[in-house]
Amino acid sequence: MSESFQPALADYLRDESRRVGRADRIAFPRTETDVLAALAEARARKLPVTTQGARTGVTGGAVPEGGMILNLAHMDKILAAENGELRVQPGATLAAIRAAVPPGFYFAPDPTETSASIGGMISCNSSGALSFLHGPTRNHILGLRVALANGDVVDLRRGRDQTAGLRFQLGSVSGELPPLRRPAVKNAAGYFVDPDMDLVDLFVGAEGTLGVVTEATLRLLPAPGAVWGLMAFLPSTAAVVGFVDALRANQRSEVGGQSSEVGTPPTTNHQPSTAPRLAALEYFDSNCLVFLREHADELASKGISVPNLPDGSACVYAEWHAPDAAAAEAALMAAAERLPEFGADSDACILADNPHDLEKLKLFRHSAPEMVNSAIDERRKIHPGLVKLGTDMSVPDARLADVLAMYETDLAASGLERLIFGHIGANHLHVNILPRHPADYDAGRALYARWAAQVIAWGGSISAEHGIGKLKRDLFRQMAGDAALAQMRDLKKCFDPDNLLNPGTLL
Ligand SMILES: Cc1cc2nc3c(=O)[nH]c(=O)nc-3n(C[C@H](O)[C@H](O)[C@H](O)COP(=O)(O)OP(=O)(O)OC[C@H]3O[C@@H](n4cnc5c(N)ncnc54)[C@H](O)[C@@H]3O)c2cc1C
Repeated sequence: MSESFQPALADYLRDESRRVGRADRIAFPRTETDVLAALAEARARKLPVTTQGARTGVTGGAVPEGGMILNLAHMDKILAAENGELRVQPGATLAAIRAAVPPGFYFAPDPTETSASIGGMISCNSSGALSFLHGPTRNHILGLRVALANGDVVDLRRGRDQTAGLRFQLGSVSGELPPLRRPAVKNAAGYFVDPDMDLVDLFVGAEGTLGVVTEATLRLLPAPGAVWGLMAFLPSTAAVVGFVDALRANQRSEVGGQSSEVGTPPTTNHQPSTAPRLAALEYFDSNCLVFLREHADELASKGISVPNLPDGSACVYAEWHAPDAAAAEAALMAAAERLPEFGADSDACILADNPHDLEKLKLFRHSAPEMVNSAIDERRKIHPGLVKLGTDMSVPDARLADVLAMYETDLAASGLERLIFGHIGANHLHVNILPRHPADYDAGRALYARWAAQVIAWGGSISAEHGIGKLKRDLFRQMAGDAALAQMRDLKKCFDPDNLLNPGTLL
């Protein structure tokens, strides 16, 4: 049951978007039965319920707007590990899940924030560097238990529980899904609907608006024999795009097909690969490298070392998963040998060929979003209303050069302080604008709106991994259109006629 909200619990009013909400009550369930009791109370009192995982979300989805907070952080048990599957409660963190994975396996979804809960990752359909090869969280969810607003609990298994065409039956809720379209790019915006789809997928990426995930069964993959990473430094954006295109073309010709970012999730386990595969392709612009170098002392105090970064270059990080070290080395060397074609020095690369060095590079990469957030926190001491402006948009392959040119031209003309990093393999870059004062923030917002309109016109998505939450509803409306939004609202109404679950999020 819930308790009344006390000021000492103020932390629960915010997430990493730094938006602050309000609440009347809060519940910390430990079991599915506790979740059902809280939902029953919410129904009886007509209280809106905001579900929270670890509150690392950056779009305000977990920020309450009155009513009850349902915080699942105490539902964090690892329940079972067998047959290449892991059964967990929703509050289990990514770090805890990784620690529980049996030897010989790994869990592929890898948002850099490892304190995120699996319930939050499922609800946002999060992704990370390895999504280039393995797709987002959706592709790794085999089963879900979900508590619906009416008190039903549905137990869903991929491959078993599906829609008939678009018709579905879930507990006592039945209906027809709307024929929603989604862009053919990496996308985490809106409900996932396909004819004859797995019902699991309806709840992945639904941002907690259709039900509360109370348990998840995760698909584990066979661990690769060897993982090698390469940080390459390139002299210009054109060189970066050329190198990325070359690596992607090579992957397509050697492995066949493309990364699993787009499309319907697989129903079977991936077999261990017999060939090296490009698993991650990430980008850091020159501003980002300068910013991290400037914060090297602060990072060192957190145990994160900043590698030797050449001046004026942008960086591409590529990672290969291979059956053995010889195959990983061959793939990496073949990539490094192409660098001179793009004006880069193959001897100036940083190489990681063991778990220790890979972890060091990973910590370094994760420090980019973290340091941006702490820089903004410093500025908020002077201008309390300031927040970071961070984009999360993706475009089709053919638009990668165009989108980078658009960002750079506009940002150079604006004089705004900014840095760009992200998942370049999926044409998914985070532009981070660090406003120095409110006028910067307004100028940044105007640019963001212009870019979003262009990205939508190119067939891209305004959210590739963070979801819509409460901050991106206007952009989502532009992308989806009023008619599709009305269909989504009708779908939500089927499950939640009184709009109790996460009102104000997504829709
Ligand atoms: C420094 C930093 C780096 C990040 N890096 C990445 C990254 O690389 N990739 C990426 O995708 N994201 C990233 N994020 C964003 C964030 O970590 C992810 O969105 C994460 O999945 C959120 O998980 P959470 O448990 O914190 O969810 P919360 O923030 O608590 O909630 C997020 C949403 O999920 C809903 N929800 C949570 N649990 C449940 C549940 N059990 N049932 C139903 N709904 C639920 C909430 O209502 C809310 O709408 C980053 C964030 C930070 C601060």
